[in-house]
Amino acid sequence: MTIAVFPGSFDPLTNGHLDLIARASRMFDQLVIAVGQNTSKQGVFSPAERVAFIEASVATLPNVSVQIESGLTVAFMREIHATVLVRGLRNSVDFEYEQGIAGMNRALDANIDTVCLMADPQYQFVSSSLLREVARFGGDLTKLVPPVVAHALTARLESEG
Ligand code: ADP
Repeated sequence: MTIAVFPGSFDPLTNGHLDLIARASRMFDQLVIAVGQNTSKQGVFSPAERVAFIEASVATLPNVSVQIESGLTVAFMREIHATVLVRGLRNSVDFEYEQGIAGMNRALDANIDTVCLMADPQYQFVSSSLLREVARFGGDLTKLVPPVVAHALTARLESEG
């Protein structure tokens, strides 16, 4: 049985993430989404809120689960016997970034392989950070995020002013 982990900030979940989750869930027996605190990124939603958005959006995928994870991804993966680390590539900037992380993770644990899936072209421009900006200015995000996230983004960022 192959257990895969898809780690990320998911602040918040986008349809680009969801597309990747659905595809990875077909490739591996179990897919665990690890919601982490990225030390270099300021969060808009708490880890618990991000988990709730993901859980609401993956309810139809029985082999997908969600956890909060704050330590080293490879250590978490060893704990749950996961051997595949899933990430997404939208462009060459992602590639450079992911190459560095994958190399480091391989140095830390050679039993773990990183599998990168190419973003669906319709979501290549979708990033959580850009969506937060658009939401701040009242843009319509309904085609780019699950409904639960669209509501929460509007409520959170409009209330911030
Ligand atoms: P991180 O802070 O770990 O980069 P993100 O939530 O921004 O967390 O992204 C998690 C993973 O999802 C990354 O591998 C990223 O490249 C991928 N990803 C983000 N947006 C998309 C998208 N629109 N399509 C495919 N993959 C994506």
